[in-house]
Amino acid sequence: MTARATPSSIIQRRGLMLVLSSPSGAGKSTIARNLLESVPGLSLSVSVTTRARRPSEIAGRHYHFISVREFERMRDSDSLLEWAEVHGNFYGTPREPVEVAMAEGRDMLFDIDWQGARQLQEKMAADVVSIFVLPPTMTELQSRLHRRAEDTEEVIATRLANSRSEIEHWREYDYVLINDDLDIAFDTVQCIVKAERVRRDRRHGLFDFVRGLLEETPKL
Ligand code: 5GP
Repeated sequence: MTARATPSSIIQRRGLMLVLSSPSGAGKSTIARNLLESVPGLSLSVSVTTRARRPSEIAGRHYHFISVREFERMRDSDSLLEWAEVHGNFYGTPREPVEVAMAEGRDMLFDIDWQGARQLQEKMAADVVSIFVLPPTMTELQSRLHRRAEDTEEVIATRLANSRSEIEHWREYDYVLINDDLDIAFDTVQCIVKAERVRRDRRHGLFDFVRGLLEETPKL
């Protein structure tokens, strides 16, 4: 016997743009990875970047690693939905995969900085749900950056210095978490996704569903 789709899963809705930002080392990437593994129907928007690939990263999965020249070509031909210079490198969100996902009602996760979050909020406010992840202390942030051990001391120093300007934008987000316990932070983000998915204004199929319900109701 095949499982019957529950009404809530067949009601059409617009795709959700879930934006996660934080200073480097606050745990955002771990939360993002866990979400992608455990939340059905959520895919990552794979950014382009001009930064060098870290040993643990896979091209095309974590980022599309491109030259500055290629980046400029994409930016100037309006192929990027948003872009920013972060820690001395360029990063941007390719436009097409997002537009396709939104049109099909699929949800996308964006691991981007405050500059990108701001641009998406300006362009697609109705679809964006933004979450800012704060570290419990700056000392903890620093030790997480060192523990990752994938960046040079110089890169770590730049990231720490830049964390202040990232944190200063916390007020621009819909939700703000303090990541002092990864399980709790992750659970909270999952709850946010679940709740945002059932918002009335995202589910244009509800109208027909409710009309059907009312037609089924015996008139007294
Ligand atoms: P990392 O080099 O550690 O992977 O990323 C550095 C920062 O750039 C992170 O805060 C990350 O969220 C941000 N970032 C990654 N991709 C994009 C993007 O496409 N656009 C913007 N605006 N920021 C990005």
